[in-house]
Amino acid sequence: MRKCPNCEKGELVKVEDITLEIEGYIFIVKGERCSNCKEEFPYEEETQKTVSIARKLGVWPEPMKLYRHLSKSGGGLMFRIPSDLEKQLKLNENVEVSITKIGNKIVIEPETK
Ligand SMILES: [Zn+2]
Repeated sequence: MRKCPNCEKGELVKVEDITLEIEGYIFIVKGERCSNCKEEFPYEEETQKTVSIARKLGVWPEPMKLYRHLSKSGGGLMFRIPSDLEKQLKLNENVEVSITKIGNKIVIEPETK
């Protein structure tokens, strides 16, 4: 076990659920997490792999972080998809989406047919 270079107290534990955010896209990678301060250290090769995938997807270096407010509708919370994303991802009311919760993040993926 390696000591954490961040807090120098905890030990680095191997994990497979580190979330890397690249321009608003979430990638899950392998790496190590400190047992004390919870700092995450993705493996360098994993980070590189993720960056190359992101490039292939064309999400790099496009800025994709967007801020939106939720609105209340019929007792539920509504999230409006920004129109530029709607066009880019060819979304419409017939497209089914899957919603994944990763920690405190929500990933919305259109189901491709
Ligand atoms: Zn630490």
